[in-house]
Amino acid sequence: MEQCCRSPWETYIPPFRMAPGVYYVSGNNWVACYLIDTGDGLVLIDTAMHETAYLLIECVRNLGYEITDIKKILLTHAHIDHIGAARTLKELTGAKIYLGERDMLFLTERRDLIGGDGQYTCGMFEPDEFYADDKLITQGNIAIRTIASPGHTPGCTSMFFDVKDKDGKVLRCGIHGGIGLNTISKQYFEKTGLPMSLRDEYIDGLKKLAKLHVDITLPSHTNQVGILMHVDKITDDYNPFIDPSIWQELMQERLERALELIEKEKKEEQV
Ligand SMILES: [Zn+2]
Repeated sequence: MEQCCRSPWETYIPPFRMAPGVYYVSGNNWVACYLIDTGDGLVLIDTAMHETAYLLIECVRNLGYEITDIKKILLTHAHIDHIGAARTLKELTGAKIYLGERDMLFLTERRDLIGGDGQYTCGMFEPDEFYADDKLITQGNIAIRTIASPGHTPGCTSMFFDVKDKDGKVLRCGIHGGIGLNTISKQYFEKTGLPMSLRDEYIDGLKKLAKLHVDITLPSHTNQVGILMHVDKITDDYNPFIDPSIWQELMQERLERALELIEKEKKEEQV
């Protein structure tokens, strides 16, 4: 059969454990989705694309869960690679969907900003709740703290929660809701009409989040911290993802790249 079109997610990735009770389940090697076993139902962070929903479902079932065990779906931001399968999964599971309120703009009058370039589709869905940073999202034995992290999108939201290893040691997991620099360029703001102040919010957010302690960084895209390189090192007694320096380095790296971008644009304006 003729080779089909190439896509960023052409490799199937079976589910693997990132932290106790926390699994990588997107089924693809591009965008990450995390399943949290709370002891009383599952929480899913992000859904990946509508077109890869079947892989996510397969991953959940391969771990021994039923898709209907998913009680809450937390979306980091309203781009196609994170919310594409939200409608499908909401309809299949009946789970409650959470989103940053400022991203409602994308779901309503500016659906062009969801992205996808005609390659991916995003069904219509309505979030059940908006994040409130002063209110933990709890399910079973997990309490998730959210922090609004505007910039990559206006409603971009980061999440933090604690899990315990088998010796009872607490490990903090953290996911930055969206650190892609593609949406903070001057060119992007000019094209979309979104305010350039989002860039300042992006930078302020990184500075704030860099101060947090995170034992296990859950990247929203695998290549941000190269998690796939370490999958075969995971054993019952060893978790290669425990490393608090990863979070600090990631925040720092993005901050430097954002500042470089601004500097470069300033120079170009002067020419
Ligand atoms: Zn994005």
